[in-house]
Amino acid sequence: MDKCTFCAGGPEDNFSKEERELYGQNRIAEGKVPLCAAMCATKALLAGDGDVVADVFRERVFKRGSGNNAWGWDKAYQKK
Ligand code: SF4
Repeated sequence: MDKCTFCAGGPEDNFSKEERELYGQNRIAEGKVPLCAAMCATKALLAGDGDVVADVFRERVFKRGSGNNAWGWDKAYQKK
């Protein structure tokens, strides 16, 4: 099992043959977000500059609420 590289390759030079053979792609060097964040259907995974991510999260909390006041909380966490 490999550890998550945040899709940023390894210590090899960006776009080098070694990097491509070991990691396949360096999405961060390509200016892309990690693949799992790009493919996340619910957009639960956020990646990028901390200020931008914080703004997205703040907007979501403002629109949807948070904790047990969040939209869908009752359905997701029904008491038994
Ligand atoms: S796809 Fe996601 S979990 Fe997999 S290496 Fe990239 S950042 Fe890590």
